[in-house]
Amino acid sequence: MTFENLTRLYQELVLHQKHSICVFDLDSTLFNVSPRSEKILHEFAEEMQLMDLLKVSIEIKDWGIYESLLRAGYHHHKHEDLHAQLKKYWMERFFSSNYLHYDTPYLGAIYFVQLLHKNQIPIYYLTGRDVERMGVGTAAVLKKWGFPAKPEQIHLKPHKSFDDHLFKLEWVRQIVEKYENSTVYLFENEPVNINLIGQSLPQVRLIYMNSTHSRKETVSVPHTEIFNYTVES
Ligand SMILES: [Mg+2]
Repeated sequence: MTFENLTRLYQELVLHQKHSICVFDLDSTLFNVSPRSEKILHEFAEEMQLMDLLKVSIEIKDWGIYESLLRAGYHHHKHEDLHAQLKKYWMERFFSSNYLHYDTPYLGAIYFVQLLHKNQIPIYYLTGRDVERMGVGTAAVLKKWGFPAKPEQIHLKPHKSFDDHLFKLEWVRQIVEKYENSTVYLFENEPVNINLIGQSLPQVRLIYMNSTHSRKETVSVPHTEIFNYTVES
């Protein structure tokens, strides 16, 4: 996976650096979260003594753990209890600071964000993660990988009960109002967020990172720019 196809956008951003604001989602936009899920899956397999599950890998395009289980032959109708147990186990760990260290930035992501930062373009991170469960780990992992990450740049949901999509919409609305003479660029992998923000705030430049997503919607906002990751062999 690579960010290299963002070169043209980078040139545009630098050209208008004094009037550009970049907002990045984290999960599946800057970070490949498959290693996080795979670690959790394998710990579950060890605890449950399900050794065949240790051979199951989470692919870069998978969403959660469900698809990997199907590939391994654990179909829901035959293994309903296993699916339920693993889902609970995965939810408790995936949405916690402890496992964020297994995420890996997509190739080129660090370089791209650092270049923007060096050109004095304001960088923000906007994520559906929540402060209580994932705040500490989010800050630590951004720092670990060398992303510019002052506390005021990192924006998580104040509480897990907030709706991801409405939280992001309202936050972007505020940033658009704050920087009324600038263009806000939103980098995001989830079509639900792209569509909601694109319909409500048409002045936002939408950069759809086509990595993986929840499969709930497809991008329907016509002015969205789509960046397809190219998978390296
Ligand atoms: Mg995401």
